[in-house]
Amino acid sequence: MPGGLRKLIASWPAARQLQGRDPLGLGAAAKSAHTDALRARTDAADRVVGSVCPYCAVGCAQLIYVKDDKVTQIEGDPASPVSRGRLCPKGSASEQLVNSATREYKVKYRRPHGTRWEELSLDQAMDMIADRVIATRDATWEERDEDKDVTLKRTLGFAHLGGATLDNEENYLLKKLYTALGAIQIENQARI
Ligand code: SF4
Repeated sequence: MPGGLRKLIASWPAARQLQGRDPLGLGAAAKSAHTDALRARTDAADRVVGSVCPYCAVGCAQLIYVKDDKVTQIEGDPASPVSRGRLCPKGSASEQLVNSATREYKVKYRRPHGTRWEELSLDQAMDMIADRVIATRDATWEERDEDKDVTLKRTLGFAHLGGATLDNEENYLLKKLYTALGAIQIENQARI
């Protein structure tokens, strides 16, 4: 049999299954050359950075794979006692949080009765929020109770509900700020 034909037949999965060390065809015998040449994105990373999934209060540990200063892949960190290398579908897809073409980089605002989103600068948005906080605090401030017996010094006009991405230090500052403003309903989801 010509060498080329023998080589071709030997490359067929059934021949590799019969001749090699994979008689049940569950591994190497069933693998195509194309599959064999595939490499994981993680192989090409320049560095790996430890992080925490930002999506919920479980706080699963992540390994962020970076190439040319761009995030290329996010995996679970097996060293974590919390998640032991696992990520749920949300955490597994968090690479898209960084790289998705639909990620927003501008503040979007839809004014009352508006029918479309407007783009605002961050400075303008922050000023608008501050104006609303001050106006609400002034309009809803309670110095004393109805009988004027008890000092309250509070507002029920706004509250704070933080997200899972907040860490201890940010929550410390948020609690200070909102308590100083007179809010009493201050909560967050963060457990990180
Ligand atoms: S991977 Fe899933 S369970 Fe873990 S922190 Fe992220 S969202 Fe929560």
